[in-house]
Amino acid sequence: MFNLILFGPPGSGKGTQSEKIVEKYALHHLSTGDLLRSEIADQSTLGLEAKKYMDKGQLVPDEVVIGMIRSAIDHHQEAKGFLFDGFPRTPAQAEALDTLLEQNNASINVMLALEVSEEELVTRLLKRGETSGRSDDTNEKVIRARIVEYENKTAAVADYYAAFNKVVKVNGVGSIDDIFQSLCREIDKRTA
Ligand code: AMP
Repeated sequence: MFNLILFGPPGSGKGTQSEKIVEKYALHHLSTGDLLRSEIADQSTLGLEAKKYMDKGQLVPDEVVIGMIRSAIDHHQEAKGFLFDGFPRTPAQAEALDTLLEQNNASINVMLALEVSEEELVTRLLKRGETSGRSDDTNEKVIRARIVEYENKTAAVADYYAAFNKVVKVNGVGSIDDIFQSLCREIDKRTA
């Protein structure tokens, strides 16, 4: 199994690059943001509860997203590997993910961390909000709240994996294809 975390602040290009990576390497894409938006679309209890946090730019409670990831891993036992996008977002989520993977005799192989400046993130997210249909992309206050959540709670997840020597920083500014090539180089080094 090859398990990869694509890491970075909101707007750093995780979703765009994830789609390209899972296609090339035949990994199973697990995006907690997408899973939560699908729960909201279904108007499930979980979705309606999560929406309250998402509308404010705050993280959804750990137990909610960990439960979703546990069930997604259980349902895709045939996968040759997972690409985690937008998860883990807290050290507690990272610990839970390690335990879940261990139970499947697997682990995280690498965290690729996209680096983009804050002003570029805000510009990108406001632009994405023109077409994404995501209400959390249209309001600059909510965008900035998401970046603050990232700095206060999520950035520490990179320290967690750095302690295991698993983090590689990748410049997230440039053309989509150039960034994709940089990410592929790092993956190829570890899968060859
Ligand atoms: P994303 O699509 O990854 O930008 O996520 C959109 C929103 O969903 C975030 O602002 C959070 O409110 C929520 N969310 C997504 N993933 C997580 C996670 N791993 N932990 C907590 N909240 C999450």
